[in-house]
Amino acid sequence: MPPPLEFGPPELRLDAFMARANAAYYANHDPFQDFTTSPEIAQVFGELLGLWAAVTWRQIGAPAQVKLVEAGPGRGTLMRDALRAASRVAPDFHAACDVHFIETSPRLRESQAALVPGAHWHDALDNVPDGPALVLANEFLDALPIRQFERSGGVWSERFVAHGRWVLRPAVIAGTPEDGTVTERCEAACAWTAALAVRLARQGGAALILDYGPARSAYGDSLQALRFGKPADPLQAAGEADLTAHVDFQAIAEAARAAGAASWGPITQGHFLNRLGLAQRTRRLAEANPARATELMQAAERLGAPSRMGELFKALAITQAGTEPPPGFEGLT
Ligand code: SAH
Repeated sequence: MPPPLEFGPPELRLDAFMARANAAYYANHDPFQDFTTSPEIAQVFGELLGLWAAVTWRQIGAPAQVKLVEAGPGRGTLMRDALRAASRVAPDFHAACDVHFIETSPRLRESQAALVPGAHWHDALDNVPDGPALVLANEFLDALPIRQFERSGGVWSERFVAHGRWVLRPAVIAGTPEDGTVTERCEAACAWTAALAVRLARQGGAALILDYGPARSAYGDSLQALRFGKPADPLQAAGEADLTAHVDFQAIAEAARAAGAASWGPITQGHFLNRLGLAQRTRRLAEANPARATELMQAAERLGAPSRMGELFKALAITQAGTEPPPGFEGLT
């Protein structure tokens, strides 16, 4: 096995290590050789999100120009499917849209340009021009860096990485769980969500975040690495594997509210997609393509069934405060 890649100083806090490792990974690899995502599994996923954006656009007053923004668009499949559905069902929305992608990987930008010609690319949310925006982010926040703390000998330490191994440094955080407990902090995901919420609160619009992780903050070590499609040691495969962590939906919802926006959910992906009509749309697609009926039904099952992606994955929406719930989030307590 080759020696672990080194990134800058020999000792890095986990979040700095994860940021550098993922930047190298996304710049040099096709991540879809290592994992797949909802839009790659079923076209109905992007289509339903396109319809979500169209209905939400009407709710915010149907502005004549709106930015349809996607963070971490991968191959561009979700946006292609969303735009196709929107152009058929809501041509007025489709005509009002300007597509903006937040993507740092030049390699993935190329794939996105092939599927969504005419999009605009930005390295960060801050660079998306002002104005009302509908923002989609599927499996984006899980790639942002986290910090980890572990409890041993009745005290907390923070995890740093040096030469492919953990190094522990004293830390002061709240909580006195039993020894061996690990806890995570997603400052990058919270900061990103807060910046998004400030923008939506001031300039109008709404966001839909889908990802895997718990609805309530909980102890646990969720750092994982996928290399060649299989679990790998996150510290050994730096830059060669996709490093992710579960998204703490409670923390990001709180960050959105603290920034002055409203948050809706999280609800499970299965619940959300079913509310948007996953079953009905899949049936219609299957009727129109009888040869592909089984494949389409199985793909929908994979997205929505609790034992597959339906329960671990959650959906969270962010809107301006004081507005009605966006589609899929009506009547939640
Ligand atoms: N949403 C897509 C892809 C998810 S993979 C899908 O559902 O298929 C994560 C995506 O986020 C990739 O496009 C990756 O290049 C991008 N990404 C990861 N970290 C990023 C960062 N810090 N800034 C911008 N894009 C990032």
